[in-house]
Amino acid sequence: MAIKLQILTADPQEIELIERYWAVDESGRYLEKVSELGGLIEMAQGVSLASFIRQRCNAFDENQVCPQCAALIEIRNRSETKKTPPRIPKLCTLCQEDQDAVALDAEKTKAAELERRLAEYARKQSTRTVDYSAIPDHQALLLLALDRAITPRLTSGGFTVGDCRGLAPRYVGDFVLQLREAGLVLDDPGRARPGTYYWEGDEIWMLREQVVYRLAPDTASKSADEIIRSLSDRVYTDAEGIFNLWLDYSVADVMRYLGAQCELYNHYLSEQELEEIKSTMRFALETYSVSQLWSVVWKVVRDAASLANREYYNRPKAAATIPGKIRRNLEKVQRESIELRAWSRPEQNPAGTLGMVLGETLGVDENTSGHMASSLISWLTGQSCSPSVEAELREPVRELMTIALANDVGSTVMLRFAELIRAGHDVGSAVEEIGEALRS
Ligand SMILES: [Zn+2]
Repeated sequence: MAIKLQILTADPQEIELIERYWAVDESGRYLEKVSELGGLIEMAQGVSLASFIRQRCNAFDENQVCPQCAALIEIRNRSETKKTPPRIPKLCTLCQEDQDAVALDAEKTKAAELERRLAEYARKQSTRTVDYSAIPDHQALLLLALDRAITPRLTSGGFTVGDCRGLAPRYVGDFVLQLREAGLVLDDPGRARPGTYYWEGDEIWMLREQVVYRLAPDTASKSADEIIRSLSDRVYTDAEGIFNLWLDYSVADVMRYLGAQCELYNHYLSEQELEEIKSTMRFALETYSVSQLWSVVWKVVRDAASLANREYYNRPKAAATIPGKIRRNLEKVQRESIELRAWSRPEQNPAGTLGMVLGETLGVDENTSGHMASSLISWLTGQSCSPSVEAELREPVRELMTIALANDVGSTVMLRFAELIRAGHDVGSAVEEIGEALRS
């Protein structure tokens, strides 16, 4: 190793000090200690030996060569020297400055391009309008609920997903995304915080929680308030769409409770396990009520907690049993016609404005079974029982009523019927079950 010196002083005493400071043997070890050189020349107070020398001499390490221009790299003190050439060599000061300038330039160009694209996007958005009288029922209900959650911001300004917390017990971002994908709420990049949209390679990405949304304008240029008013008195016709919204909402209500229970017992579920449970719950909700599924969650989470305390078990292993236990529990309930108990709504698990809007429109709440919700929606949309279903029921119902009246147990039968419907049975299976009980 060698160090090349460019001495800037003519003072022989200083030159001697500089040469002694940088002097090395063949193996690259310094010949003298810094502490021994300190007293040789009088220096102003507060000036270190290294900086004194640096002011009077530029030093270059022959082991470090700029990969760009092959110049030697300047070093400021002893610790910056290398005994062997480094694997990833540094650029010299000039080349580094050039590279930084090029990078800064590229960054500026990209920032300008981002701004141009966002402006273009905003311009396109502003020409898009929606015919609110033609949007599907479930989107109308969702908008009404959103308006209630963030009033008056839906109609008078921008809002972020964080503002919509009151919409539903969980998955608020997904509900807002549904409206965004339908083109009913638009991004408003001009109102988002700087940094919300950014480059990731050649693509523009965004921080979802910072995106500012607004209601898309109406085709007939109705004001936002008028749009919401017109949505609240409409004739509902799309039973399937509304039922799916009810399912989406009810799944969120069940999953919020599951989340709280798991937190209480320190169970950690992976994204995949949560997705699995979500599917199971969505299917179960076609039959049962939210409050019945809360009781299933309550039981399963507690079972897992006691499992976690057993020998050869630990928390992650116990938590991993939850999705399977929920499924088996529901299968057993169905196989053995067990009546599920219903839990009352926990205080920290509010229904959200979507729950309220569904409640007011359909007459449903957390105790409404999927069967019941489906019937209520059919009734609301004028798609009540198809003639074939009614025809199928005619004979068993006549028989049931005849037996009930003959035995003078009409009121008992009606109370039991109401109980079974509440527990999630459909009309046919409730009639069948009571009929069997009466005949035995
Ligand atoms: Zn260079």
